[in-house]
Amino acid sequence: MSAPDARLAEAVREISADMKQRRDRGTVASYIPELAQVDPGAFGLCVVDAQGNVAEGGDAAVPFSIQSISKVFTLTLALGMAGDRLWERVGREPSGSAFNSVVQLEYERGIPRNPFINAGAIAVTDLILAGHKPREALGEILRFMRFVSDDDTVSIDERVAASEQRTGFRNAALANYMKSFGVITNPVDFTLGVYFHHCAIAMSCRQLAMAGRFLAHGGRHPTTGHAVIGPQRARRINALMLTCGHYDGSGEFAYRVGLPGKSGVGGGVLAIVPGQASIAVWSPGLDASGNSHLGRVALQELSKRMGWSIFG
Ligand code: GLU
Repeated sequence: MSAPDARLAEAVREISADMKQRRDRGTVASYIPELAQVDPGAFGLCVVDAQGNVAEGGDAAVPFSIQSISKVFTLTLALGMAGDRLWERVGREPSGSAFNSVVQLEYERGIPRNPFINAGAIAVTDLILAGHKPREALGEILRFMRFVSDDDTVSIDERVAASEQRTGFRNAALANYMKSFGVITNPVDFTLGVYFHHCAIAMSCRQLAMAGRFLAHGGRHPTTGHAVIGPQRARRINALMLTCGHYDGSGEFAYRVGLPGKSGVGGGVLAIVPGQASIAVWSPGLDASGNSHLGRVALQELSKRMGWSIFG
């Protein structure tokens, strides 16, 4: 592995140092009690470029709860299993409402707007489960995460999973509601169990940036050269990340950062620079839409300095 471009290394170093000392840090999520324990002062940033060089700063090696960022990977897996049949159960439009909105699901007769809001991700998880035992489906998801990140140590934080399982009443409501329309086909408890556990996967910025590489490089796993997915599918997942990856903050993220990205309530964001780089950032404090506040600020600065916006 050679060194990253000096300008990139410098930008990552300076942005990380700047973010560490900022006072406007947003609010750490508390609706999953275990997440409320996380230090709001943490900040990590990691960029993996097209040659596999790594530039990182701050707490880039500290694992955090990836939460909804896992939805990018479950969508990838589910598309591999079901292909376009997946779109019979889930839409592809931005939601313009909160990540856990119940009301929209009623208007739209149990079909979630997109695969990244909670209802959509639960429907995607149900597809992966497809009659298997929850343990097997979870094993499949974890194996996939380890493969794309090139790291066998990626694992699930059982305490976070248990914490969400105890308190995830809204997700249970969404799943039961979809079950009444036949959108969920497995026992609701099984589907929710797998969903809570994949959201509870813990990864560092470095592991996550490594895991995102196939989306930056036309679906290819850069180390082995194997096609994880085809180029068209990679393009489409990036399109969904751009339009739906930040819930009702997706427009603002596209406007300010100009990159496909997916956030999680653990404060992480995975962002893709097509053809160039995979980026992971982590700052636990969230904004009003449930997206990492300083994560977005850091990505905006990085994208500007490197000229990475896909809009030129
Ligand atoms: N596990 C979280 C939930 O279902 C994911 C939400 C998020 O990361 O935005 O509420």
